[in-house]
Amino acid sequence: MKKRVYIIGAGLSGLSAAIHCQKKKISAKIFEAAKYPGGRCRSFYDKKINMEIDNGNHLVFSANKNFTNFCELIGSSKTLKEISPNFFFFDFEHNLEWNLDLSSGYTNFLLGKKKLIPNTKLFDYFSLLKLFFVSKNSSVFEIVGNSKIFKTFWEPLTLGVMNTAPNLASAKVLSNVLKETIYKGEEFCKIFQPKTNWNETLIKPAVTKIKKNGGQISYGNLLKRINITDNYVSELSFIKNKIKVNKNDRVIFSIPPTNLSKLLGNCSLPNQYNTILNLHFKVKPKDIKLFKKPIVGFINSITQWVFVKSNHLSITVSNANNLNSHNTEELIINIWDEICKYIKKNIIYENVQIVREKKATYVQSPSNINLVKKFNNIPKNMILAGDWTQYNLPCTIEASILSGKKAIETI
Ligand SMILES: Cc1cc2nc3c(=O)[nH]c(=O)nc-3n(C[C@H](O)[C@H](O)[C@H](O)COP(=O)(O)OP(=O)(O)OC[C@H]3O[C@@H](n4cnc5c(N)ncnc54)[C@H](O)[C@@H]3O)c2cc1C
Repeated sequence: MKKRVYIIGAGLSGLSAAIHCQKKKISAKIFEAAKYPGGRCRSFYDKKINMEIDNGNHLVFSANKNFTNFCELIGSSKTLKEISPNFFFFDFEHNLEWNLDLSSGYTNFLLGKKKLIPNTKLFDYFSLLKLFFVSKNSSVFEIVGNSKIFKTFWEPLTLGVMNTAPNLASAKVLSNVLKETIYKGEEFCKIFQPKTNWNETLIKPAVTKIKKNGGQISYGNLLKRINITDNYVSELSFIKNKIKVNKNDRVIFSIPPTNLSKLLGNCSLPNQYNTILNLHFKVKPKDIKLFKKPIVGFINSITQWVFVKSNHLSITVSNANNLNSHNTEELIINIWDEICKYIKKNIIYENVQIVREKKATYVQSPSNINLVKKFNNIPKNMILAGDWTQYNLPCTIEASILSGKKAIETI
């Protein structure tokens, strides 16, 4: 009997699985609970600010080879723009500005050719070596918490990359990221951003290719229940239909761990998540010009990152569970106040939209990662995908795409 492949979830991992399936000349059917694809990496037209925006400011490093290969596969490489690895920072408490310039390699820092973070010495950067060899049970804070560059380097890096506070974040995962980026050199630290938005770069081209090659996507079709017989998935019950599944078929679950737990019942998977908060400010073109740097990191402030887009400013705050119940109006006022202080000018925004992604990523602590590692008691024709399954990497676009690719390699 011909093998059929069903994919649950049309986020990046599900789309990656479908694309890699087609590469193997196997057709797959995708089922997605939402009315649109993209999951946690989606773009949408927002009425309030009258423009298309990304749910979050996804940033990808040139080291992410699965990402760049995927863009090639779906024919979207030209929709990317490359930003040189200059990380501009502004410290509110000490009124200091600096540029962490990785564009000509970190050796230039060691040779003293590049400017260091203000009030630091070369010695302070040896904490970079500490993260090279770390145990799987250590948190980032345990390794570099007493470093002089903790607040100005390690904390923003950990929050930006892992959306997890340094005292909880797995040092091993951050170490893996450093080994693929900073430790390897500037070529691996360039930043990729979409010229328009992530929908145009990742989601739309992937969906177009899947459909062109005969793949099907059923939207608004939540998987409610699975029947398991003799340790095989035997039936999938969606809100719109039911499907009988043979032992020879494969069902790829590319959904977050809590969604999977609901379906499987009684399984030990991480259930703590962190919010990423995004505020999209529509700003007059003349005021956008006041922002000279494309991306700026803020220290000792609520705002963590400012992304300067062609027609709006987009603010990111990671690890933002503490702001979930914060008064929205007050939050907007405080954040806008920080923006104005940074450019040293009071400007007015035209409108603002706030996007709270309450389950942006699970808390990537050593104990949660351990739960994922140990989790293998699944039916024989079930395959897991999703950013969280690649526990050596942070939960990212790279991890999602890789998970979809790996899922198909097992078929
Ligand atoms: C605000 C924000 C900022 C981020 N920033 C970055 C960044 O800078 N760089 C980076 O690399 N990554 C970033 N990420 C992470 C990245 O977006 C995710 O790792 C990636 O999108 C996850 O894709 P996924 O397919 O694994 O999961 P998801 O996108 O969650 O996809 C799962 C899909 O499954 C569907 N689903 C769930 N349950 C069911 C069910 N029972 N039946 C049918 N369908 C179901 C969901 O609707 C969803 O569409 C960010 C994430 C957020 C939210």
